[in-house]
Amino acid sequence: MRNITIVGTGHVGLVTGVTLAEIGHQVVCYDIDQKNIALMNKGISPFYEPDLNDLLKKNLDTGLLLFTSNPKEALVDAEIIYITVGTPTNENGDINLTYIEEAAKTIGEHVTKQEVIVVTKSTVPVGTNKLIKQLIEKNLIHAVHVEMVSNPEFLREGAAIYDTFSADRIVIGADCEKAAAIIEEINRPFDTTIVKTDILSAEMIKYSSNAFLATKISFINEIANLCEKVGANIEEVAYGMGLDLRIGTPFLQAGIGFGGSCFPKDTHALLQKATEVEQPLEILESVIKVNKRQRYVLIHKAKQHFGHLKNKKIAILGLAFKPNTNDVRGSIAIDIASELVTEEAFVTAYDPLALEETKKILGEKIHYAQSIEEAITNTDMVFITTDWDEVKEFSLEKYEKLMHNPVIFDGRNCYPLKVVSKYNLDYYSVGRPAIV
Ligand code: NAD
Repeated sequence: MRNITIVGTGHVGLVTGVTLAEIGHQVVCYDIDQKNIALMNKGISPFYEPDLNDLLKKNLDTGLLLFTSNPKEALVDAEIIYITVGTPTNENGDINLTYIEEAAKTIGEHVTKQEVIVVTKSTVPVGTNKLIKQLIEKNLIHAVHVEMVSNPEFLREGAAIYDTFSADRIVIGADCEKAAAIIEEINRPFDTTIVKTDILSAEMIKYSSNAFLATKISFINEIANLCEKVGANIEEVAYGMGLDLRIGTPFLQAGIGFGGSCFPKDTHALLQKATEVEQPLEILESVIKVNKRQRYVLIHKAKQHFGHLKNKKIAILGLAFKPNTNDVRGSIAIDIASELVTEEAFVTAYDPLALEETKKILGEKIHYAQSIEEAITNTDMVFITTDWDEVKEFSLEKYEKLMHNPVIFDGRNCYPLKVVSKYNLDYYSVGRPAIV
């Protein structure tokens, strides 16, 4: 058992803390957000993640998991400190390392053990771990030896607990063998391939992985747009491609592009680093450009169908950036809703979990419905923006019943064309022939 402290108890930090307690470590989760710490102390996660609340409650009860917003209490006994604070983008799109810098300063000011290992799980540009170490050492009050380990996180929101216990690999980047061995030992119960490397390579693995996945998405979206022009069906094309093991099926679903709090910012940050060192990444530049364009394909189709969107009643199904989360950071659905408001349409949105988070961003610019039925009733058209199971399982008959002349713009290809064709609907999706 190790004394572990998590600095930054958000989506990654809470999952890290809870799962490390679950495998038997004594974990203190620290965050500057006192409201969230109070919630977690009551056994309530501030955000939705499948299975998280149960594990949180269980490990609170055993006493292996503690929450505090007091840095002294959090760090006094810490041997191993995970940094999991956010690394968002500034308004100009550049990466903002303020939270990382603050975290490093706090760690320096409060650690007391003779030796500590600081493990960076936050996604940080190559070279940042070196800066974190310098900042911690600059702020040390006690004589503490600090070793850094880069341990980038690959979990997917909506499947974070599953991903932690069933990871494809765990990357441990360290320049000190002893520190790497200790972090390897901690991770062994997660029972997966451990990739040990130097710190700079570990930092690069994270960004390169996300950039590659983003590339797959933009690639298939461009092919989908071409399929529409030539009359092919992207689902059949992607399936036929994906069976080739060199290609693989995951991340070949055409749609309205990637959003969320990671891919957009990480692709941008990698590009920013490449520019800094004068090594252009032309493919990645195109990936980002294609993705920015792709979110508007539904609106273009709607304008072509209706001529204009002014005063049209539009339902949006799905606000979370992906299913099984209430996270709307970087959500394409939010961008689409804003654009439709600019077009002077009346927008009503529904999402099973993300209405409250959306209200914080869009406020009263749009209306909010408590069910799919309520959202679509008497609307001119429906935009499907998140492929929730609830949306995929929603009976197409109800669109017929609740809308006068149902027109659906499906940005996530939720319904099989064969099924749609049995109903009296106009149906546009991405990369597949329209049914009109
Ligand atoms: P988040 O915003 O959910 O959580 C960050 C937390 O850090 C917040 O609770 C915030 O209050 C806290 N914080 C900020 N400054 C602090 C400080 N000085 N001391 C203590 N706490 C502080 O962010 P997240 O989604 O968990 O992402 C964290 C990092 O992990 C980012 O670098 C992100 O890119 C990376 N990551 C995220 C995911 C994901 O799916 N969310 C996946 C892989 C990697």
